[in-house]
Amino acid sequence: MSQIDDLPPLRDVIRTHALDARKSLGQNFLLDLNLTSRIARSAGDLENVTVLEVGPGPGGLTRGLLAGGAKRVVAVEKDRRCLGALGEIAAHYPGRLEVIEGDALKIGLRDVAKGEPLKIVANLPYNVGTQLLVNWVACEDWPPEWTSLTLMFQKEVAERIVAKPGTKAYGRLGVLAGWRTDAKILFDVSPKAFTPPPKVTSAIVHITPKAEPVPCPLKALERVTAAAFGQRRKMLRASLKALSPDAETLIREAGIEPTRRAEEISVEGFIALAKAFAGDS
Ligand code: SAM
Repeated sequence: MSQIDDLPPLRDVIRTHALDARKSLGQNFLLDLNLTSRIARSAGDLENVTVLEVGPGPGGLTRGLLAGGAKRVVAVEKDRRCLGALGEIAAHYPGRLEVIEGDALKIGLRDVAKGEPLKIVANLPYNVGTQLLVNWVACEDWPPEWTSLTLMFQKEVAERIVAKPGTKAYGRLGVLAGWRTDAKILFDVSPKAFTPPPKVTSAIVHITPKAEPVPCPLKALERVTAAAFGQRRKMLRASLKALSPDAETLIREAGIEPTRRAEEISVEGFIALAKAFAGDS
């Protein structure tokens, strides 16, 4: 195991600052700095970018990012107990780490990026991870503020993000990610890598924005996918009926047989459905 910096081992940091993990904050800490360095490397070149890290906790991934050469890291942490440990990292890397105490769901990416290229890298708290991803992908303007997302999710969520039609994991997340991004799973992370260990395996997902995704009315896409996958075993003519009395006609207008089921519809098919249903609420 190689040493990545001269700061104390994370086990000591956690003990010194009494950072016993809290379930309510989704706290499963990574203590192996070789692993956090590997995650940081997965985000590609960090030398000329600002990195937003959500939930630095005791700072294992933060240290991986800074030792890996990130120009600037902005770390948003809700748990103020972590601020002391993070302050020590900031002192070790002068001018490169800004810690914001707050809720990542309320952070505006433009304020973080300050005109620089922005990458988001995080071992996400499982309770807000999906919502954060949806916010970052379903944003009003495209291209987004970020140039890549390198994120740890529970493996089951990671599989839903990269899912293709015709699979069990395919659903709203897969359609949204498939529409605007290229997403792939890079590697799995065993529960044993975390303190405390979660019940399930995790995975690192790497996501980049598509340069020119097909234009699509976002609200309508959300409504159509929610209705279609909300009753995924039903035919579209039944599951989309609640959205419009003319559902069957609109589905045909989108070039889709109304007897098809959500799972069988491609991302392009959902975009066509969203366009057909856009004027009809
Ligand atoms: N990055 C650390 C690591 O890899 O060891 C900690 C990861 S832990 C899975 C998630 C972290 O997110 C915790 O430190 C938790 O306090 C923080 N957190 C939870 N909800 C948050 C929120 N809404 N905004 C910012 N941070 C949050």
